[in-house]
Amino acid sequence: MRLLYPTLYLPSIACLQPEQLQRWGVRGLILDVDNTLTTHDNPVPHPEVRHWLEVMRKAGISMIILSNNHPPRVKPFAELLGLPFTADAAKPLPKGFRRAARELNLPKEQIAVVGDQIFTDVLGGNLFGAKTVLLQPIQPESTWFFRLKRRLEKGILQKYKANNK
Ligand SMILES: [Mg+2]
Repeated sequence: MRLLYPTLYLPSIACLQPEQLQRWGVRGLILDVDNTLTTHDNPVPHPEVRHWLEVMRKAGISMIILSNNHPPRVKPFAELLGLPFTADAAKPLPKGFRRAARELNLPKEQIAVVGDQIFTDVLGGNLFGAKTVLLQPIQPESTWFFRLKRRLEKGILQKYKANNK
């Protein structure tokens, strides 16, 4: 169960502040795209994202995008934000996280993984050995597969919250 629990659960990416990362000794972030930095298939970042990136950059935090989505989706979005990226990452498998950490040139202890899904972002980040930050999805999904995943996540989050009281 522990592997499915995030280190921190926040309402949105703008709630993640450099002070928190400094407390952890984290100097780099591995960022998800869909429902983390913007909604699914949306080429425009969420309004809070550009300012948040500036705050992180000023604090000396290195960042990379790691997405299970395909290059035609991920590449233009990453370029728009001036971030390096890996697409088709196969999260939660560790190989994409290892590659991202190499690109950040940081050990896993100094990295936090940020995303909206427990079974990809949180599980993958925990297996890899980084800190994990789970965000509430920007917008609820409508496909049956996503609704199933969100229902399973809800049960896990209820236990997580009970443990963190
Ligand atoms: Mg996502």
